[in-house]
Amino acid sequence: MAYDYDFFVIGGGSAGVRCARISATHGARVAVAEERFWGGTCVNVGCVPKKLMVQAAEYGMWAEDSAHFGWSLENHGHDWAKLAQARDAEVARLSSIYGKLLAGAGVTTFEQRARLIDAHTIEVGDQRVTAERILVATGGRPSLPELPGIEYAITSNQALDLMQLPERMVIVGAGYIAVEFAGIFNALGVKVTLVLRGDTVLRGFDQDVRVALHEEMVKKGVELRCETVVRSIEKTKTGYSLRLSGDETIETDLVMYATGRSPNTDGLGLDAVGVTMTPAGAVVVDEFSRTNVPSIFAVGDVTDRMNLTPVALGEARALINTLYLDKPTAMDYADIPTAVFSMPPIGTVGLTEAQARAKCGCGIDVYLSRFKPMRNTLAGRDERTMMKMIVDRATDKVLGIHVVGPDAAEMVQGFGVAMKCGVTKAQMDSTVGIHPTAAEELVTMRDKRPDPSPECEE
Ligand code: FAD
Ligand code: NDP
Repeated sequence: MAYDYDFFVIGGGSAGVRCARISATHGARVAVAEERFWGGTCVNVGCVPKKLMVQAAEYGMWAEDSAHFGWSLENHGHDWAKLAQARDAEVARLSSIYGKLLAGAGVTTFEQRARLIDAHTIEVGDQRVTAERILVATGGRPSLPELPGIEYAITSNQALDLMQLPERMVIVGAGYIAVEFAGIFNALGVKVTLVLRGDTVLRGFDQDVRVALHEEMVKKGVELRCETVVRSIEKTKTGYSLRLSGDETIETDLVMYATGRSPNTDGLGLDAVGVTMTPAGAVVVDEFSRTNVPSIFAVGDVTDRMNLTPVALGEARALINTLYLDKPTAMDYADIPTAVFSMPPIGTVGLTEAQARAKCGCGIDVYLSRFKPMRNTLAGRDERTMMKMIVDRATDKVLGIHVVGPDAAEMVQGFGVAMKCGVTKAQMDSTVGIHPTAAEELVTMRDKRPDPSPECEE
């Protein structure tokens, strides 16, 4: 049967654009449908605008500190509207580049919502088109719990549309988005309260990282209400009143929920076509991103594997190798570095101490260092950097590197390469440091932390 297209991509985000563009350059007849914004979450409401706001927050800190370095600057405060305008212009510029890249590669674009009719047919706007292969790359959206008054809460999407900053703000959640936005708004002068159901932030991260960030957030003035659940939100004359577990209430001007994200599969027609999904609505795929329906594939956040842009791009690249370059490729999820752009930021790669213990029992060495970064000595800031390295004693292989402190993300990218190459502690030790940097600490860690667990005492 002759199809209208060789490949039809639903979703013009990081993963969809990458797949559409590369498959077209390899000769496939490709179309992509995007209902909202080219570039998807990362470019429009995720990584990019978020990072620009983190940078805005950092400037405030540096402006404050600059007096200690001899500068006399007059700080007239932060202009949120000006930042929002500059940020939005940059996002629009990047988004339009994505659209142009697709056109340049000869991809047919539909600026409309698409849904599946059958294993080879897609409805896009009011047309029906056919394709030999279909890719679902529809990403995710914020997910909020059900509770009275939840309709008053905003998510990270609307946090980017604020016309002005509130005086007080409650952020619910303790994952990537909650801690990143808490850092941004706090640094821009908002009184931020983080309400979290756990005992500290960032479940799943190394415990020392979690504690280090928690302590630094408190020092910076963020209030953390741990082991606390919001029961209801009521609108008041001036703002909102939140009833918390323990029957406490807090008054605030704005409530933001950052309680995870759900895959965008509602109304996509996947059920009707018989594509298997998880109970949470994620598309189930094998290591080659194939669904159970042979002509349908899925990559990126909609598969809920590891919801990061470089992972979505990696899955896209692997799929194109498999489908159009005759090179079956499975994405490698080992040792993927990740950063949290909190204040201070976190960079991490490899296993946490708990994961390393589960794998190697007592056979690990842990190196841990805490120090005041040079910039903070003159500035008089009581902010400390924490670095941690976990080593497999039997093989000397580095299993995990974790950094909390300025430039952590930039630092860990390079160490991620070393870990991918199987770096040993001896090789780290034989690497000459760059002085004076914070990163040199990672190649000069000599003292093992005594093992806290009695069964592991040497
Ligand atoms: P998306 O980028 O979400 O793209 C899916 C696209 O499909 C969307 O444009 C959507 O409009 C479109 N779509 C959906 N349904 C349809 C349909 N039926 N028809 C047509 N189009 C449709 N990751 C990082 O690595 N680093 C970060 O710093 C980072 N920061 C983040 C900050 C925030 C606030 C958020 C929310 C996420 C962040 N992420 C970050 C995660 C990252 O944005 C995602 O992992 C990444 O965007 C996933 O790409 P994707 O292509 O799978 O999905
Ligand atoms: P996360 O999964 O990171 O965190 C969700 C948070 O919400 C957790 O603290 C969780 O608590 C809490 N939570 C979940 N349900 C409830 C509930 N019903 N009541 C109260 N708290 C609840 O999700 P995010 O929304 O922060 O981010 C989504 C994903 O986007 C991230 O996981 C990451 O993959 C990606 N991202 C990446 C970034 C980066 O690379 N820098 C930045 C931003 C997002 P608990 O831990 O107790 O379950």
